[in-house]
Amino acid sequence: MFTKFCIFFILLFNILYAEPIVKINTSAVSIDKFKMGYFIDESENMPFDQVQKQKFTQGSNNLTLGTTANVTWVKIILVNDTDSIKELFLHNAVAYHAEAIHFYEVEDNMLINNIRFEPRHHLNIEKMDGAEALYTINLKPGQTKSIYMQSHFLAYQLIELSIYDQKASIDDLVHRYMPIVILFSILTTLALYYFILYISAGYKEYIYYSLYLLSSAVFIAYCYGMVSHYLHLYGEWGLRLNALAIVSPIFLALFIKSIFKTKENYILQNKFINSIVVLFSLTYLYSFIEYYQAIEFTSVLFLYFLIVMLWVSISLYKQNAPLIKYFFIAHIFYLLFSLIAILFYNSGIAYNYLTSHSIAIGTMFEALILGFLVSYRIRLLESDNKQKEKIILIDAMTSLYNKSHFEERLEKELLIHRRDKTGLTLMIIDIDYFKEYNDTYGHLEGDKTLIRVAKSLQNSLKRPTDMAFRVGGEEFAILCTGMEENMALSFANKLRINIEDLKIKHKKSSVYKYITVSIGLYTVPLNYMSSQDQIYRHADTALYEAKSTGRNRVISYQEKH
Ligand code: GH3
Ligand code: MG
Ligand code: MG
Repeated sequence: MFTKFCIFFILLFNILYAEPIVKINTSAVSIDKFKMGYFIDESENMPFDQVQKQKFTQGSNNLTLGTTANVTWVKIILVNDTDSIKELFLHNAVAYHAEAIHFYEVEDNMLINNIRFEPRHHLNIEKMDGAEALYTINLKPGQTKSIYMQSHFLAYQLIELSIYDQKASIDDLVHRYMPIVILFSILTTLALYYFILYISAGYKEYIYYSLYLLSSAVFIAYCYGMVSHYLHLYGEWGLRLNALAIVSPIFLALFIKSIFKTKENYILQNKFINSIVVLFSLTYLYSFIEYYQAIEFTSVLFLYFLIVMLWVSISLYKQNAPLIKYFFIAHIFYLLFSLIAILFYNSGIAYNYLTSHSIAIGTMFEALILGFLVSYRIRLLESDNKQKEKIILIDAMTSLYNKSHFEERLEKELLIHRRDKTGLTLMIIDIDYFKEYNDTYGHLEGDKTLIRVAKSLQNSLKRPTDMAFRVGGEEFAILCTGMEENMALSFANKLRINIEDLKIKHKKSSVYKYITVSIGLYTVPLNYMSSQDQIYRHADTALYEAKSTGRNRVISYQEKH
């Protein structure tokens, strides 16, 4: 009974406290997921022989342990269960970030080899493989070895390990950084594009957006190891690039200030955005004096930044600011992924591709949605300009083109006529006895009638090239092309009859009981080199004749005059 009891306890003990073992039992080795032990050395300077006696907690090969596990030890037990000699490579993918990575190889409680990497102090960086520190392990068939690794970080403890044979190792070194290279390329290309837009259009928001993209891109490139991997930059350089995380919110804040014109339109929000710019700028300057304190302070500041921006986007949304919904959506993405990132680095959330890449994914989403916002704004500016152009060209009362556009148009049409012989007709239309109409029905009624006459003229035009203008108080002009004199005459008569047909009562008119118009027209002969003034004078002469011969009629100018 007692022995059974003992066996049960030994088994239970083994299950609960047995150290995880990584068994190598395939010919190709590529192990991305395995169990190992870890131990946090709170004293931060425990000697190795002491470390070996500690109890290791079971964990996975990818760990994020937050800000309090600066010095963490890892223990991996490897057994070669195959019949062949294995040359294995233990990859530490985040070594470029670390203060120190120190590998120890132990067989039968004997230390047989060790190597220490301190990328920031250039110790053994020539033995690093880009961003990664590799440790080579040779295992004979049946052999067991323990690998201890000290991982020393000053800000957040991060562990990313994998075990590969030579082929898988090379594969990893070649391909691991591809997604970040692609992301970096997209962000920098966008940044360049908006920089060029800034140079050509001069809008400040483009340069802020461009700098935001660029600083985010470089930060991400460093943060995910790309810079160290390809350029072998560690040390002071790495710190400076990492500090770009403090800079990119400044540009984002300036971008929001500029695109929503908060200084003019949203004073309180503007003050808070200014506080972000000031606080992040000061923290960035401080990072040159006390780097790690500045980085720790940035985490708190970042929370402030997220909250202020959320509040700004909600309050602008409530005030119906144009385009705000794009920023709102972008910020929600940014917020979500930033929270994941904060949780990830503080070990509050499990390690996986999404959580470990959340900064990059969030920035990417945000950058693209903000890019959409900027493009949408270009469209708004364009239609704004078109609107302004239209306002300059159009008579406010009748919505016909105004006199200045008439002059411009007449000049252009005349040039086209001279070159292409398109045929050009000018009609001048004047309401008959309009002074009396005003005197009888009042100026307001007069205005309404002007608008109705204008509308009738506009609606009578059939071809897209025909255009109606208001050239004086109750005087209109029509320009049409491609008509001979006879055609023009009958077209003008149609315009005249259409106005008669409006049946606007005019009891003081001496020609008819309704409002009527007189029209003088001039069709420019194909080979005749008339000037703009001359054309106008001829049409006016014809109008004068229409008036003097009884009104409510069309007269075409005849050359014999
Ligand atoms: P005629 O048949 O010879 O053209 O006689 P008329 O009374 O129309 O003479 P004229 O063309 O010289 O008169 C122009 C009148 O048009 C004077 C003014 O009272 C009126 N008028 C000009 N501009 C406006 C306007 O914007 N609104 C209104 N209600 N009346 C206008
Ligand atoms: Mg007149
Ligand atoms: Mg008149």
